[in-house]
Amino acid sequence: MPGTLDSTVAVITGASSGIGRATVLRLAREGAAVALVARRAERVEQLAEEVAERGGRAVALTADVTRADAAADAVARAVERFGRLDVLVNAAGVMLNGDSLRARLDEWDLMVDVNLKGLLYMTKAALPHLLDAAASGGRGVADVVNVSSVAGRSAAPTVAVYNATKFGVTAATESWRQEYAPHGVRFSVVEPGAVDTELFGHQQQHAQDVENDRFAGVEKLHPEDIADAIAYIATGPRRRAVNEVVIRPTDQA
Ligand code: NDP
Repeated sequence: MPGTLDSTVAVITGASSGIGRATVLRLAREGAAVALVARRAERVEQLAEEVAERGGRAVALTADVTRADAAADAVARAVERFGRLDVLVNAAGVMLNGDSLRARLDEWDLMVDVNLKGLLYMTKAALPHLLDAAASGGRGVADVVNVSSVAGRSAAPTVAVYNATKFGVTAATESWRQEYAPHGVRFSVVEPGAVDTELFGHQQQHAQDVENDRFAGVEKLHPEDIADAIAYIATGPRRRAVNEVVIRPTDQA
């Protein structure tokens, strides 16, 4: 049975791990040609091969989204390869929490650079192509799905800068939603609670201890749970714009 994203092209950042990786496989299953963006070349190349083995179309694009030129180049290479762009999923992100006295400025910079600026650069580069796709018949619509977090809805101690970036993602997405709805580009924000990925493991040990305490006894979500929501958004008929989705583990208060 043909998928509902047949003849479409999706660019997915954060494709080497966790939510981005699961989204690549999910959207490819729906029939989209997928462009995989992340820094770790080996991982995205392997995943692109996996998609191809399952009969899909995929290209691995190694890029650091914190560099505006690299983000623009990744989008250009995806369009060059597949001829159009219908869906952008911004899933690249880092979380480096901890008390602000002990925090390192380079970690704060990195969160702002990846979570916020990287997402801005990718979206800016993708917009002209998404507008073209929305105007060019076919589905008559294009999508940007930004992965924010429940940390983009409410703040918590030791999470200040991650909170700031994710509130920023949610705010920018809502502004863009209003700006581009009349042109057929849907902007959606997905706000997960705790998902079982590598995200937590990049933090300093004291921050990991806090997170482990916070989520003790919580059965975390799987990356596929978030990929399902993203697929629901992107496969929807033109009339249906899903603005915001919050998904928490059942055990997470
Ligand atoms: P992972 O750590 O598993 O994946 C993060 C991804 O981001 C990797 O593919 C990584 O690729 C990519 N990335 C990081 N830095 C860069 C960069 N400079 N350029 C390009 N890609 C980069 O985390 P998750 O899958 O959990 O996170 C995905 C998104 O979901 C993030 O935005 C995160 O904030 C959000 N989120 C996660 C939650 C969770 O509990 N896990 C909860 C709520 C939101 P590489 O290192 O190869 O570049």
